[in-house]
Amino acid sequence: MDNNRNTLTLSKQDMFEYGSQILDAVIEHFLIQDKKPPVAMATRVDMDKMFLEEAPEHPANAKEVLDFVLKEVMTKSTIVSHPKAYSFVPGPSNFISAMADTLATGFNTFSGGWAGSPAAAELEILTINWLLKIFGLPTKSGGGIFTSGGSMANLTALVTARNIICGSDFSKAVIYLSDQTHSSNIKAIRVIGLKKEQIRIIPTNMEFEMAINKLKSAIAKDKLLGLKPFCVIGTAGTTNTGAIDPLDALAKICKEEKLWFHIDAAYGGAAILSKNGKKILKGISKADSITVDPHKWFFQPYEMGCLLVRNNKNLRGTFTEKPEYLRDVEGNKSEINFYDHGIQLTRRFRALKFYMSIKTFGLNAFREAIDYNLTLTEKTEAIIRKSPNWEVITSASLAVINFRYNPISQSLTEKQLDTVNQYISGEIMKNRQALLVTTVLHGQIVLRMCLINPRTTLDDIKETLNQCSDYGIEWLEKI
Ligand SMILES: *Cc1c(COP(=O)(O)O)cnc(C)c1O
Repeated sequence: MDNNRNTLTLSKQDMFEYGSQILDAVIEHFLIQDKKPPVAMATRVDMDKMFLEEAPEHPANAKEVLDFVLKEVMTKSTIVSHPKAYSFVPGPSNFISAMADTLATGFNTFSGGWAGSPAAAELEILTINWLLKIFGLPTKSGGGIFTSGGSMANLTALVTARNIICGSDFSKAVIYLSDQTHSSNIKAIRVIGLKKEQIRIIPTNMEFEMAINKLKSAIAKDKLLGLKPFCVIGTAGTTNTGAIDPLDALAKICKEEKLWFHIDAAYGGAAILSKNGKKILKGISKADSITVDPHKWFFQPYEMGCLLVRNNKNLRGTFTEKPEYLRDVEGNKSEINFYDHGIQLTRRFRALKFYMSIKTFGLNAFREAIDYNLTLTEKTEAIIRKSPNWEVITSASLAVINFRYNPISQSLTEKQLDTVNQYISGEIMKNRQALLVTTVLHGQIVLRMCLINPRTTLDDIKETLNQCSDYGIEWLEKI
């Protein structure tokens, strides 16, 4: 390959061949990913053996490097878009958005400020507006920003909440979240400089929803102590069980107490596109800020999170800095510089994939996919309930269901149940049949499925359950 080494460029023919080979590989992956084993597991020693070397000073044949990467690198990741990737929150993705990302990267579009790319800024304004409308936030005063993911969206929200409610003195500030709140919020709280004593973890009820009474008591007590409650984080779709905190009640408390109401709807928020989901997410539009994660249930490839805010001025007021070297590109107010609305200055063009996929498929396709996922989760619950081998631990909520192997003929002890379910998960993963790990609920080890992939079928689930049962029987035979 005739690459010009001093300018890091390739000839037209070489670019064409190289690019085509990559595109072919991606298309092939989309066509057959459902048939590949979903799980990849390797030790550090395995990986070192394969890849360890000094940074090479000298060039190699481009095609050989690419062939090596396609063969050895791209094959050693868990396929989070696989129909049998049930664990964590999967990433079903879609081809249009993958290509949109390729375009954005290929053109290396700077999506920081209006002057750098008016069209990128406009598409971000536009698609954020679509989302504001979907979530029932005001489109005139509201706003938001695309981030790398839900963690960054939560951090952006909490920086804003702290700044708007507390200003520069947050030594007495107190924040409230539940024991089911996603760990990224605790990380964010640490990043914004709050101490452990400024965090209240409110217990949840049997349904894993924040206990309103306990929240009220905590706020009242903190006020008596002269502290300054400033923010409540509600969750709309906990990662563990899909539970939704009582959003209306939380909104009411926040209004009365003048607290910032942040809702982490990173995984669950997308359900608002379906009729049923919209009903169960009632109250979400009362938030001051909402985290959603398009790289989960809006089917976007990584990385794409989003923070929506009721009042866009709060973002601008929190993040605007005016260094000298940006003075020529400030522009007028309606021409948003997203570097003034969040943490990053240089940003990739994330809005493009959201824009292109929704334009291409239509929002209704997204609604139908999400509807399908909600129904699939309910059908899975029904199958598990009917079986003498399985026990439902938490009912279908959004797209999450928790269950465990517990054959009624056996009357196993809690300890045995923990062991057998851990064993089942270990075997199904080791044999690369499904990505199915455990979680712990009320002290019990259980299996958890998050069914947000529209290509997962009921047959996939039945097959996995049967394989799991077989491992259960295998374990019983050993004791
Ligand atoms: C996934 C998730 C996050 C974190 O989002 P990332 O995109 O992984 O950074 C935060 N909160 C909830 C509820 C989530 O499900």
